[in-house]
Amino acid sequence: MAKKYLIETFGCQMNVHDSERMAGLLDQAGYEPTTDDLDADVIVINSCSVRDHAEEKLYTRLGEIRVLEEETGHKPLVAVAGCVAQQEGERLLKNTNGRVIDVVLGTQRLKMLPVLIEKAAQSPFAEVDINPWDDVTFPLGMTRRTDPVKAYVTIIEGCNDYCTFCVVPYTRGHERMRAKADILADVRQAVDTGRKEIQLLGQIVNHYEAPDDPGCDFADLLAAVNDVPGVERIRFASPHPRHTGARLIEAVRDLPNVCKHMHLPVQSGSTTVLQAMRRRYTRESYLDLVAAIREAMPEATLSTDMIVGFPGETTGDFEETLSLTEAAQYHSMFSFKYSERPNTLASRRLPDDVCEEEKTRRIVALQRLQRDIQSRLHARAVGTTVDVLVDAVSRRREGEMSGRTSGNTVVNFPLPAHIGAPAGWLGRTVPVKILRAGPNSLWGEVAEQPIRGWHGACGPGTPGAGRSC
Ligand code: SF4
Repeated sequence: MAKKYLIETFGCQMNVHDSERMAGLLDQAGYEPTTDDLDADVIVINSCSVRDHAEEKLYTRLGEIRVLEEETGHKPLVAVAGCVAQQEGERLLKNTNGRVIDVVLGTQRLKMLPVLIEKAAQSPFAEVDINPWDDVTFPLGMTRRTDPVKAYVTIIEGCNDYCTFCVVPYTRGHERMRAKADILADVRQAVDTGRKEIQLLGQIVNHYEAPDDPGCDFADLLAAVNDVPGVERIRFASPHPRHTGARLIEAVRDLPNVCKHMHLPVQSGSTTVLQAMRRRYTRESYLDLVAAIREAMPEATLSTDMIVGFPGETTGDFEETLSLTEAAQYHSMFSFKYSERPNTLASRRLPDDVCEEEKTRRIVALQRLQRDIQSRLHARAVGTTVDVLVDAVSRRREGEMSGRTSGNTVVNFPLPAHIGAPAGWLGRTVPVKILRAGPNSLWGEVAEQPIRGWHGACGPGTPGAGRSC
């Protein structure tokens, strides 16, 4: 009987995609997936170290596995991958007294997973491989994509920017560009297996320069992906504000399949704090960029990342974060309290001098403001009809589906009663008339209009209906 594996993922889209790659490798090695701890011969935890809280989740999970082992006698082989594995290496074994963990796998060594699992199974000692010097190639066709609608495609690994708060250059290594030919082959393969939306990933995705096509930058790559037949939507994460120029804005505006949404991580509204973070733009230049995007694409939505309580952040600096948030009118925001990360420049040079109580006060104020902004922006959509790419069946409400607009807003809607299986709707773009708005999502009903993706006699809900009909 085939051995079974379970992969658990913490953190960002990069980690989600790395987990898809590891799943593909294990499939190829003859394993089968499971979702049950008790059924798993191998448990892989793909960890995240971007914040304290994320790292703690790994140790909590390892504790659960140890309890499982003590209570049931079931002892799966445990591999820890991802950023904590890269950061801690052998120390991870010491931190857990050598128990539970059998394999420690660095972020650039995914390809070694099946080999290390086999070695660990034959040995009383754990296998550790965190060699940071690997290339960016990954065998095509080895990825087990889990999302039926969207496909992640990595275009750059690592980062050379060393923002003072960020652990990524230490855990993901220096910046390596993937060949354009590989990227396009990956995109074609994703489309051939039914994916409609391509999400291009990189730590600084808009720093891309094709190693195999001199002169091809990120805007050119977007154009090339836009031209792949079958690609309906393209998103990308994360662009850095300092590499976002007129060429990229024009590409997003002019390429029909590129979503009219930009994630522009600002991190703070104060130039003083931005300098301490080594972000290499100012509050003023960032707001100029926002104005340029608004002028080119009034319909585009923006989102951002924000950190509060960075070392040295005064109440005046924080007020500037609030005023920038009001000025930029983001449709969504990921906001965090600063926490020191190992090895970073900030942890070595800047005392973590904003107390926890004050960090909490600031994050509450920021999130309250952002919630009000989102509520106002979403309320404007009521009464309009928007194109929604359907990407999920609601788990909480039977007969309800959800998807996203080009601007990345979540829209929920009930499946019309006369229409068949919900699964047939996944990957369809449907017009939805918006009836209600909340701070985090919209609700509506399918509008009485022709639906993109449905042709001829095939009606909505007919499994397999659509482009091929
Ligand atoms: S640009 Fe800065 S925040 Fe982004 S991954 Fe690189 S070091 Fe981290």
